[in-house]
Amino acid sequence: MQDSYRHKGLRKKLIDSLRSKGIRDESVLDAMNKVPRHLFMDSSFINFSYIDKAFPISSGQTISQPYTVAFQTELLEVKKHLKVLEVGTGSGYQAAVLVELGARVYTIERIRELYLSAQETLGPLGYKPRFFYGDGYEGLPSFAPFDRILVTAAAPEIPEKLKEQLADGGIMVIPVGNQFGQKMARIVREGNDNFHYSEHGYFSFVPLLKGKSK
Ligand code: SAH
Repeated sequence: MQDSYRHKGLRKKLIDSLRSKGIRDESVLDAMNKVPRHLFMDSSFINFSYIDKAFPISSGQTISQPYTVAFQTELLEVKKHLKVLEVGTGSGYQAAVLVELGARVYTIERIRELYLSAQETLGPLGYKPRFFYGDGYEGLPSFAPFDRILVTAAAPEIPEKLKEQLADGGIMVIPVGNQFGQKMARIVREGNDNFHYSEHGYFSFVPLLKGKSK
């Protein structure tokens, strides 16, 4: 399937609706306007690609709602050439948005099938993040520090190892809570042991789980 005029038109409308819902960062909206979300969807839901909702992908996971992607990305303050770690590759859609913003993206997924399928989706589109199959709770110590860390699954608490892998001045965005809902937390590292914490509304994500799965 290709990106058609019809898809571009639907996408533009979706972006306008995100703007009217309060997303202000035009660079984020621009990046999302470029990524063909319908190519990341499960085929049964393809006609719903440009409505502002989360949808099931394989392995019982979801592609995040566009508003949530925009909101998290805006909070992350991504700039060109920053080194960004994404935990929870899923469909690969969020990773593509980060690449569009000019970031050097490292993305990690614990489900092998998704780790593989995201590469198949992103490759032909020319998006080249670095993909890792593993437990995002551990981060990627050999590639740390990261300027930005984005967690796209619900964490019961903020993983210490991810905090340690944040560069000085770096920002982490992570939904923290249980299966009933999570607060969007933003952590800014200010020196070695100083982390500034703020909260930004309620969201609903699939859980961040420990360990790898087949
Ligand atoms: N960013 C994704 C959203 C996927 S949903 C997208 O744009 O489509 C969250 C993903 O996090 C799921 O694929 C789930 O398998 C993954 N996940 C959950 N716990 C994880 C962990 N500990 N390490 C890596 N990935 C994890």
